[in-house]
Amino acid sequence: MAGIRKKEKKRDYSPDFKLEIRTHVWYNLTNDRNVCTHKLMEGDVNMEVNTGIIVQPLHRYNREQDCMEALIAMKWPNGFVCPRCAYTRCSQLTSRRIPLFECGKCAHQTSALVGTIFEGTRLPLLKWFHALELFLLPDGISAMRLHQVIRVTYKTAWLMLHKIRHAVGEFDARELLSGDVKVNSDTYGYDPSRCKLFQPHASAVIAGCTVTESGEPEQVKIQLIPHKRGRENRATRHELTAFINDHVDARISEVHSFPLAFQLYSPLRKVVREAWVSLKSTYIALGPKHLQAYLNEYTLRRRLYLLGAREAMHEKLLCLCVAIPAIPYSQLIMHHPSRPLSAVA
Ligand SMILES: [Zn+2]
Repeated sequence: MAGIRKKEKKRDYSPDFKLEIRTHVWYNLTNDRNVCTHKLMEGDVNMEVNTGIIVQPLHRYNREQDCMEALIAMKWPNGFVCPRCAYTRCSQLTSRRIPLFECGKCAHQTSALVGTIFEGTRLPLLKWFHALELFLLPDGISAMRLHQVIRVTYKTAWLMLHKIRHAVGEFDARELLSGDVKVNSDTYGYDPSRCKLFQPHASAVIAGCTVTESGEPEQVKIQLIPHKRGRENRATRHELTAFINDHVDARISEVHSFPLAFQLYSPLRKVVREAWVSLKSTYIALGPKHLQAYLNEYTLRRRLYLLGAREAMHEKLLCLCVAIPAIPYSQLIMHHPSRPLSAVA
């Protein structure tokens, strides 16, 4: 990296994780997503772990050092910039567990993890990077399975996933819908195969999307309407307007609203239904407290899949995780019943 002068003896901060990786889980998004999901869904993880099938992580990130270098490059793509005084020359202190950079002007010390979801972590970055890959599985991964796969405690796995979800939600909230925009007043979790009267967990949502030339949803947002549970509860026109004001760039958009249950924009309704099926398959039951964060996760993952290549998806997700500071645990477990698209969890 330009402007960095070696100050202390260089230390190899890549512990020997190769052996550990080889005892973990098999997954490969590039082969067959369905098989991959099936194996994880059917509880094959332990078997795969115990039989020692080799992990196939992204080849770029095989060592702890690879992960750290990727974060440094992402944090300072044009070389070091002091966060305090914007000076661009620094010394690198490599004798620490995490490489520190000391500003050549104000002597402020910082690392590439500051201001990212990885700040303060005691976990090897390899575990984080593997968690990000598993997060990108077509239906995501539950904390229970992540805990089994990367061998961290359940609480740690839960916290890691919520930190990733928080970054995803914050990023998504900043990106307004623009262009040809459709907005539905819809219901999440409505099961058409069951009696209409027995749908206590169905929740009112407002879904908005941009569409391709063929009318297919592209960028999608699904906002939960707090406290509106049950099949018959729907967003009001006022809430629909508020959604458009908050999440659509009105200056350059043409918005079509669909406030009536029997007259929704069907491709978008399909996405809401797919979100329910996907989240239900991985997380079984989700309470209202964190549901918005899981909806954000689904819509962002869906959007990343439009990129196609696995590496591009991972790169984009990593980019979000570097751009958004970690949410403190105390804030994570607070109740935010009315917080909109920005992650509640
Ligand atoms: Zn400085």
